[in-house]
Amino acid sequence: MEIQIPKDITPLKNLIGGSWVDGEGTELTVRSPYHGQTIGSGKVASLSQIDQTVEKAKAAQIDWEAKPIKERTKVMFDFRNILLRDLDKISHLKASESGKTFGEGKAGLLKGIEVLEFALSLQNLDMGGHLEVSRGVTCEYRRKPKGVVASITPFNFPAMVPMWTIPISLTLGNAYIWKPSEKTPLTAMLVANALKEAGLPDGLLSVVHGGKEVVEGIIDHQDVSAIGFVGSTKVAKMVYQRGTALGKRVLALGGAKNHIVLLPDANAEIAGPGISDSFTGCAGQRCMAASVLLAVGNCDSQIEKIKERAASLELGRDMGAIITKEQVAFLKEAISKAEKAGAKVLLDGREVKAPQGMEEGHWIGPTILDGVEPGSEAAKVELFGPVLSIIRCQDISAAMKIENSSEYGNACSVFTNNGALAERVVTMASAGMVGVNVGVPVPREPFSFGGINASKFGHGDITGHHSLDFWSDVKKVTKKWEKQNDSNWMS
Ligand code: NAD
Repeated sequence: MEIQIPKDITPLKNLIGGSWVDGEGTELTVRSPYHGQTIGSGKVASLSQIDQTVEKAKAAQIDWEAKPIKERTKVMFDFRNILLRDLDKISHLKASESGKTFGEGKAGLLKGIEVLEFALSLQNLDMGGHLEVSRGVTCEYRRKPKGVVASITPFNFPAMVPMWTIPISLTLGNAYIWKPSEKTPLTAMLVANALKEAGLPDGLLSVVHGGKEVVEGIIDHQDVSAIGFVGSTKVAKMVYQRGTALGKRVLALGGAKNHIVLLPDANAEIAGPGISDSFTGCAGQRCMAASVLLAVGNCDSQIEKIKERAASLELGRDMGAIITKEQVAFLKEAISKAEKAGAKVLLDGREVKAPQGMEEGHWIGPTILDGVEPGSEAAKVELFGPVLSIIRCQDISAAMKIENSSEYGNACSVFTNNGALAERVVTMASAGMVGVNVGVPVPREPFSFGGINASKFGHGDITGHHSLDFWSDVKKVTKKWEKQNDSNWMS
């Protein structure tokens, strides 16, 4: 479906204590990467508004925590139905502000709803343990929410990434403060309104807009006890260090430089589209995008298929736009630098024609660089665009040496028909998410999402079972009601 970009300018508001209010900070303008025009504007939150937000969240959380999990889950159930009802509307807006295609916008929200469905299951799954540990003495686990928690999210998945944490943390009984990316803040208003309509009591979900100052204000606030972050490695590290220095629980997911190991026996019909779609999907602006292709031996037939597929994509229809003009300039320069350093440009996206009527948008076409040198910028740096760097490798050991030397560790995939060789790559990969014949090895719930190395700071996972221990504390309760005749060290 063709994307519908809003024609009017949406007023940007902050959600504080259940009311949408104007920010008291600086002015923020939201532009669509499709045509470069303003689609939203308003003011970001001030530090005193952060204080008000946390105060209201803290008060609301007390009653919310006291409700049984089944009552909290009921709100989440209605939230799910509203999101499904509004799926197209939200997907058009998120695509308009992030540059995704409409289909990608929809897929991201559906993936977020999958996490919501995991949260819905907690009422039946996360029952805690109960055991008679000694005669007349029982022990049990009880979860206690952290209280007021916060989440800082990136531009590239304006609904999916927040949906990793909103349903689980709210279902566990927390109040949640959301600081969306300043590049894509409009989607947050639709998602928050869906929760309001579902009956979430005021103050439990807040939306505060802003950049560095607002993020630091949230981290530093004494009543914010846990912080989830998703974004670039540079900021993830800063958020992690600042939060943990204050004794807070922080899980900060960072950037990526994902490798695909291509073996000569791989099925070209699977590898071609799989690898092409991985590096061109969301115009390469996703932390799971293929970035480096480690081609072992002669893989020319598969590479030809990758190129064929990527070259067939129509901009604006099959592949979206790049978030900013500056990022387009950065990508073009990176391609030129690699070419000067000796790489062959198999497919050149630098001089593409913008879709009609979108000439002022931020466009670049799929680009494939062959013969990239390990250690060069195209091989090491997260470019975050539709650029695939091919490094030719003699054998799997050489390929895995390159993969292992990356500072990141988000995703790695192998394309082959040989199970033993696939297993070798799976075992050797220094990445948190590994795939076999899958271009984008995103696990599905209840398997958690997340990388290792400089792709994640902190312990545990942001989704799935392990995330429960991030958004709550576990209390161990030991009880005895009657005097017992036997004697042991517990008596
Ligand atoms: P970003 O780091 O620039 O921004 C992320 C968030 O941090 C935004 O809300 C932003 O307002 C805030 N922020 C930016 N600069 C800040 C600063 N100096 N101090 C405090 N807060 C600051 O990331 P982005 O450009 O929005 O998103 C793209 C990046 O996110 C890529 O590196 C991508 O790999 C990564 N990402 C990672 C995952 C993952 O799961 N590991 C998922 C999506 C995106």
